[in-house]
Amino acid sequence: MNPYYNILRQLPADYKNILNIIQKKGPISKSEIQEITGLKLTKLNSLMQFFIDSLIIEKKCVGDSTGGRPPVLFDIIDKKMYVLGIGMGSLNYNITIMDFKANLIASRKFEMNMTYKPQEFIELAYIQAAELLDENNIDYNKLLGLGIGTTGSLNRSEGKIIYSASSRMNESWININILELFEEKFQIPCTIDVNISSVAIAEYLYGKFKGTDRLMYLNCAMSIRSGFVSNGRLLRSTNDKDDAFGHMMVNIDGEACSCGNYGCVECYSSIPAIVKKFRSALKLGRFTVIQKSIDEINYTDICDAAKAGDILAQEILRDAAVTLGCGLANYINLLNPSVVIFNGLLINESDFFYRISVETSVQKLKNLNMDYNIEFSKSDSLSGFFLIGPCVVFLEALLGNLN
Ligand SMILES: [Zn+2]
Repeated sequence: MNPYYNILRQLPADYKNILNIIQKKGPISKSEIQEITGLKLTKLNSLMQFFIDSLIIEKKCVGDSTGGRPPVLFDIIDKKMYVLGIGMGSLNYNITIMDFKANLIASRKFEMNMTYKPQEFIELAYIQAAELLDENNIDYNKLLGLGIGTTGSLNRSEGKIIYSASSRMNESWININILELFEEKFQIPCTIDVNISSVAIAEYLYGKFKGTDRLMYLNCAMSIRSGFVSNGRLLRSTNDKDDAFGHMMVNIDGEACSCGNYGCVECYSSIPAIVKKFRSALKLGRFTVIQKSIDEINYTDICDAAKAGDILAQEILRDAAVTLGCGLANYINLLNPSVVIFNGLLINESDFFYRISVETSVQKLKNLNMDYNIEFSKSDSLSGFFLIGPCVVFLEALLGNLN
C-alpha cells in the first residue's frame, strides 16, 4: 500500500481543505488559495510547507504575468499516488487506473461472467488489475486504494452488496460482504458505492457542469438508474438503490414489475421492456423493416429501424420515451435539478428516444407552470467519468468529502 494513504487519512480538516483545493484547482497560486479560504498568509504558508516537505505538492510552473512578478503556482506531484477502480455493470466490468488529479490513466473492459461467485470474480479481477498496472509501469505500492462500483443496492456501512445485476443469475451475489473479500485479496483499503452515484459525483467535480448546484445523472439501459448530487452531497435513496427512479410507479393499473409493484417506469422504458413490446407487436402481425426472426431482434435493431423510418420501431420507442419523460417530470418537480445528464446504451443508440424523453418532460413541467431552469445534456461518452467514478469515490472518501 502507498505510505501516503495513512498520511492523508489522518490529516486534520484544515490540511484536507488545502489539499482538496490544490487537487481540484491546481496549478494554483497562494493568493488564489487565500481568496478561497480566507486564511492568513502565515497560516497558509505553514499548511503548504507540510505538503511541500511531505513531497505531496511542488512548485509547478510560473503563472501568467499580469505586469509585475509572475506568481508561483503549486500542484500535486505527478506519478506518486494512484487509485484503482473496478466498476461492475450488468454485462461488463471495467478496471481503471486514475491518478491523484483524477486523470484517467488506463482502463480495460471485460465481459461479466455471471456464473462466477464473488471470490472467483475477485481472483480474476486481481490478476487483470495487476496486468493493467504492469502495462502502465505503475508499481502496486503506488496505489492508495481501490474503489469498487456496482449496480443494485448496498449496505455501505457493512460493505455489503444487498443485490446487484449479478444476483439475478447467481445467488452467491445476494447479501455478500464484498468489501471484506476485496480487501483480503487486494491488501489495500477499499470503498464501495453504486456506479450511478460514482459517475454523478465524478461529473459534478470534473465534468462540463462542474460546480452546478443540483446535478441529476440518468442511465437508461437494461434498467433505469439515477444518481443525484446536491451542492456536493450525494442524495442517496434507501440502501443506495440505484434503480429507485426506475421503480417510480407511473401507471397504477400498469404491468406487473419485477419489484412486486405495477406500472413502474422500468416496465416501459428499459431495454428489456422495449424489446419485449416490439416482439409482442410483431407476433400480433405488425410490420417491420427488420429482416430477422422475432426472437433475434435486439434493441440496436429497433433503434436503427426507427432511424430508418420504421413506424412500429418509432411507435414503441416513442411510448417508452414518453413514459420516461413523465417519470422525469415527477422527479424534477420534486428535486429541482439544475442539470440532467443522460447516458446509457439506449441514449447512445437512439437520439430519437433521448429527444422525446426530454420534450415530454419539458411539456409536463410547462403544464405545471413551473418556473424551472434546467439544462438537459447527453453525457460525453468519451469523457470517461463512468470509468473513473469508483476511483473518484475512493479519493473523495479519503479527502473527507463523501457522505
Ligand atoms: Zn418496479
